Amino acid sequence: YLELNQVKKSFGSGENKTEVLKGISCGIKKGDICVLLGPSGSGKSTLLNIIGGIENIDSGSIRIGDEQMESMNEKQLAQYRRKHLGYVFQAYNLIPNLTVKENIEVGAYLSKNPLELDGLLKTLGLWEHKDKIPNQLSGGQQQRTAIGRALIKNPDILLCDEPTGALDYQTSKEILQLIEDVNQKFGNTVILVTHNDAIQGMADQVIKLRDGQIRKCIYNDKKQAVAELEW
Ligand code: ATP
Ligand code: MG
Repeated sequence: YLELNQVKKSFGSGENKTEVLKGISCGIKKGDICVLLGPSGSGKSTLLNIIGGIENIDSGSIRIGDEQMESMNEKQLAQYRRKHLGYVFQAYNLIPNLTVKENIEVGAYLSKNPLELDGLLKTLGLWEHKDKIPNQLSGGQQQRTAIGRALIKNPDILLCDEPTGALDYQTSKEILQLIEDVNQKFGNTVILVTHNDAIQGMADQVIKLRDGQIRKCIYNDKKQAVAELEW
């Protein structure tokens, strides 16, 4: 469904030029949860931003469904982001003076067929909190809201960059469980950057990056716990 072929990306120029992605090739199947691992600076967020159409590539190609990303112009990219992508970050980036419900509604902006809001609030465990504003919420509830904002347009691809980075272990587990539930329920392809052990057996595919290259790519058909996979 998603296919990257020899994707390269550098930042800076001249002497300060650093190649951050050195030829990434991989395929991700529709509806799978792909977990992206790797040390700090290995290029995980850059890769996510590229798939998210936020960052462009220097060379290589990216196919999503039957669209080639590298040949899209700005307008087509914006359209692609709007139509296909949901993004969840480590920092929740909620709008402080809007309620939970309103923050989630923001994500439906310009969407042709958004999910039904009340049902989504219930799925996310936010029904009782729907009229609170972000500073009346726990970190986990804020992240649920951010997930809701990304999900309401029912994106084909949900990109999550360390969504549990700011949360304790128990809350992380709940958030990851929620992402897994959502994947089951709505069938979105999920690409998830995480260092959290709580991922357990939720990955269909695990990609390990190191120094801008893929060190290992495992299709985890048996859904083993990531910590128990052979590296
Ligand atoms: P972390 O686990 O710390 O989030 P990461 O794997 O997500 O790390 P990236 O954020 O993708 O790593 O960064 C990879 C490299 O690219 C780093 O060396 C970083 O300094 C560099 N980099 C990222 N974005 C830019 C930018 N906009 N300009 C210059 N260099 C950048
Ligand atoms: Mg990062």
